[in-house]
Amino acid sequence: MLLIGSHVGYNSKTQLLGSVEEAINYNATTFMYYTGAPQNTVRSSIDEKLTEKAFQKMKENNIDRDKIIVHAPYIINLANTSKYQFAVDFLKQEIKRCEQLQTKYMVLHPGSHVGLGVDVGISNIISGLNEVLENSKVMILLETMAGKGTEIGRNFEEIKKIIDGVNNKNLIGVCLDTCHLNDSGYDMTKFDEVLDEFDRKVGIKYIKCVHVNDSKNIIASHKDRHENIGFGTIGFDNLIKIIYNKRLIDVPKILETPYVEKKPPYKQEINMIKNKKFDDKLKEKITSIS
Ligand code: FE
Ligand code: FE
Ligand code: ZN
Repeated sequence: MLLIGSHVGYNSKTQLLGSVEEAINYNATTFMYYTGAPQNTVRSSIDEKLTEKAFQKMKENNIDRDKIIVHAPYIINLANTSKYQFAVDFLKQEIKRCEQLQTKYMVLHPGSHVGLGVDVGISNIISGLNEVLENSKVMILLETMAGKGTEIGRNFEEIKKIIDGVNNKNLIGVCLDTCHLNDSGYDMTKFDEVLDEFDRKVGIKYIKCVHVNDSKNIIASHKDRHENIGFGTIGFDNLIKIIYNKRLIDVPKILETPYVEKKPPYKQEINMIKNKKFDDKLKEKITSIS
């Protein structure tokens, strides 16, 4: 079965149940959520009854609970020392929340070195990961980054170096982001070759999630601006080939494409993806929904 979904909301009132309901509304077969606002540290307590109801809902709707993804807050930066202890402590807390919510995977931006240099940045990331993964039941997925500013994880070599330093290889994986790969310089029109390279340098078994986004910018622009599926420089047919790639069949695909006039595009995009047919009027249609 095609595992396609999007990032969905999470709020203190409805919690995971609300996230599942949003995903079902998009006809998604999987989803990704933040356990609270990604840009701050305010976190509500988890209501186990709501979590149980969420699992019931998943079961009824054929959503595999073991494939659900959490995205770590993007204020966490393990690469630079100035906020290092904060990042480690907050990440530990987020892992605990994931465990309570019984989510097995957490996507993490490796971090930005902010002037310390790539090597120091990578060694900071490794120390942080080894600290937070001790006694963890959650696997951390390093996201491939666009390489804007001093972002680490902009190529497979950097991802590989981080993985090499992690003690417990059972708790480390990778999340490919198609927009970021394009922006960092990988040719997404030749995805099978990109996958071959990843397999050679890192190992395909580490891929546990794919963020499917088109890009507003050309290859190697190092920008990181997501575009709706089929409206960007990667294009619909290339993204379909990635989504349906046989080597990634069991890997959840998550849309993080931009809202259109403040409306989520995911139901319509998922529909296009399931039909494998591009709708160039998609944005107008979403805009006109009342
Ligand atoms: Fe991300
Ligand atoms: Fe992403
Ligand atoms: Zn991005």
